[in-house]
Amino acid sequence: MVIVMKPGAPQSEMEKLSKKFESMGLSVHPTIGENYSILGLVGDTQLLTESEVAASSSYIDRIIRVQHPFKLASRLFHPEDSVIDVEGVKIGGGNLTFIAGPCAVESRDQVFAIAEQVKASGAHMLRGGAYKPRTSPYSFQGLQEEGLQILKEAKEKTGMPIVTEIITPDLVELVADYVDVLQVGARNMQNFSLLRTVGQTNKPILLKRGMSATIEELIMAAEYIMSEGNPNVILCERGIRTFETYTRNTLDISAIPAIKELCHLPVIVDPSHAAGRWHMVEPLAKAAIAAGADGLIVEVHHKPDEALSDGAQSLKPEKFNRLISAVRQIAAIDEDVHHRHVPAQVRDNGLR
Ligand code: PEP
Ligand code: MN
Repeated sequence: MVIVMKPGAPQSEMEKLSKKFESMGLSVHPTIGENYSILGLVGDTQLLTESEVAASSSYIDRIIRVQHPFKLASRLFHPEDSVIDVEGVKIGGGNLTFIAGPCAVESRDQVFAIAEQVKASGAHMLRGGAYKPRTSPYSFQGLQEEGLQILKEAKEKTGMPIVTEIITPDLVELVADYVDVLQVGARNMQNFSLLRTVGQTNKPILLKRGMSATIEELIMAAEYIMSEGNPNVILCERGIRTFETYTRNTLDISAIPAIKELCHLPVIVDPSHAAGRWHMVEPLAKAAIAAGADGLIVEVHHKPDEALSDGAQSLKPEKFNRLISAVRQIAAIDEDVHHRHVPAQVRDNGLR
């Protein structure tokens, strides 16, 4: 349930109401925006009637029953865009953030060479897998802890925060010691024990959409992480499985505005895993930014033909450089698309 307060409702009134609902066993999430103040109630609100709530304060403007199964991730609970801060790099709220790097960490030289080049092109963070969830058990599985050490050294050299995938709950503590953002991959989007474990860390989480997951299931996976106390979740659309086989996946562009309407978390797009083919990465990246994505995660390899994983979809550094300048121009054309999506039910409050 969301309680929208009247404009100018005093803070003391919100505190009084918060105490009342907390004493009923509910958790209360207040948000004070420019034109509105709201209290989001999480818990069993079935028994609370609208008239009972309305009678508890003359400063209540209206009461909205949240129809979605997600609460903490809902726009109604948190009308402004969430901005996630990774060591000073901001994601969401109108920032355009680029994450780039190889699919897998293969060697120190490989990571250092790619890191220097993507940084020079304007990447804000470095990606690289040390634990790879491969379809075949015979494929390269990653350098594991040695890979984490290489990523850490690349951060020391370039200053770029590191994003890497975590594939099992027992590795969370170790991986969190080395890197800045924990990536939960498509194959693990509904690995609920992994979601709960990363939710107990204080690291930002990059949560990728499962290849057959609905938008609601993606947001519910974010809700798992948030319900454990970690609000720093970045959602990633990386293509879904359809009947089409020409591309590796089908990039669901409509997921971007749909998630923006439902949820306040930043949405980034991975055009590399969506396409599976390097020459389609730039067009998909442009479409994603035009549709309002908060950033991109792109696979880049200095020698794609020799890559141990996902070479076919990896851009050479010079192609990535071109992509960044192209998408920056697109973002500049329509800055509005990156602006706030405060839901009308809440926003209209202060404007009436
Ligand atoms: C990856 O980012 O390298 C990866 C395995 O992605 P996904 O989980 O989207 O397939
Ligand atoms: Mn990959």
